[in-house]
Amino acid sequence: MIIQLNPDIDNGQKEAIVNKINQLKYSTTEVKTQQGDYLVGIGKSDFDIREIGFMPGIRDIHIVSDSYKLVSRKWKVDYTSIDLGDGVKIANGDLAIITGPCSIEGEQQIKETLEHCRENGVKMMRGGVFKPRSSPYSFRGSGIEGLKLWYELAKKDGVKIVTEVMQVSQIAEMYDYVDVFQVGARNTQNFNLLDELGKIDKPVMIKRGISGTIDELLYSAEYVFSGGNEKLILCERGIRTYETASRNTLDLNAIPILKEKTHLPVIADPSHGIGIRKHVEPMALAAVMAGADGIIYESHCIPEEAMSDGQQTLDFRESAKLISRMRKAHELKKVF
Ligand code: PEP
Ligand code: MN
Repeated sequence: MIIQLNPDIDNGQKEAIVNKINQLKYSTTEVKTQQGDYLVGIGKSDFDIREIGFMPGIRDIHIVSDSYKLVSRKWKVDYTSIDLGDGVKIANGDLAIITGPCSIEGEQQIKETLEHCRENGVKMMRGGVFKPRSSPYSFRGSGIEGLKLWYELAKKDGVKIVTEVMQVSQIAEMYDYVDVFQVGARNTQNFNLLDELGKIDKPVMIKRGISGTIDELLYSAEYVFSGGNEKLILCERGIRTYETASRNTLDLNAIPILKEKTHLPVIADPSHGIGIRKHVEPMALAAVMAGADGIIYESHCIPEEAMSDGQQTLDFRESAKLISRMRKAHELKKVF
């Protein structure tokens, strides 16, 4: 059960509602976000919603049978859109395009990528400065200095920064320079990190865990939402299966399933999803047709020289072609 509280509810009214719910054998958790004040009730007993619905202080009450609650579409049918400012949005019915290198490497590379974004009308750039690498000997990112440099260069163009945060202590140092905090696939169930991201008022994009189920991804989002931050984006980035011909298996099924289950925007990452440069385009187009609200993919001025993930990274010519084809696919999708 989700109870939306009136903004002007007083403590006495809140206490009366909590007592009433507890009598019905439901536990309650109060959730305060920048958008609203909710009581999430967890329990099984059957009751007449009118017993509570008329209590003072309640704006609306919803029975949500899913075990995740606040991210469920069963109480919020209208899709959530994420506003990054300056007219940049990630929203249902739109196609958000986010491109950039796997890793931020240096000034020249940042400038060339921003130029590529500008030429193609892309308003969101991705790039890692703290890189989760399977081997400790691989390049692990340019760190906070790389982020500051990127921020200085990107703000001139109004390009938004999407980058991964790996641990709690990085949130504060990154905060002023980031538009969307990315939670990587290796951290999808880092509940301490999710709790802390619930306390901030910047958007968080959560990638699906390497072997994570769709429901586990939704629970991760529920952590952030119930921690106080509703600005969430989900990302299907491929899961580990028995298949070895591709890096991961981009689970296109997840896109329509998530769009049905949750009101949050759903984007896809075909670069990590398949891991093979020449196959990124068809998977990106398929994800658009499957209903993704956006695509995040890797591009680089010279992919062969990229410090990470070059094998799945498009050069700018391929990237420009993909952007134009994704936009066409998105127009076509609207006709259906
Ligand atoms: C990335 O986006 O570069 C990345 C490391 O992604 P993932 O967490 O999906 O592996
Ligand atoms: Mn990568």
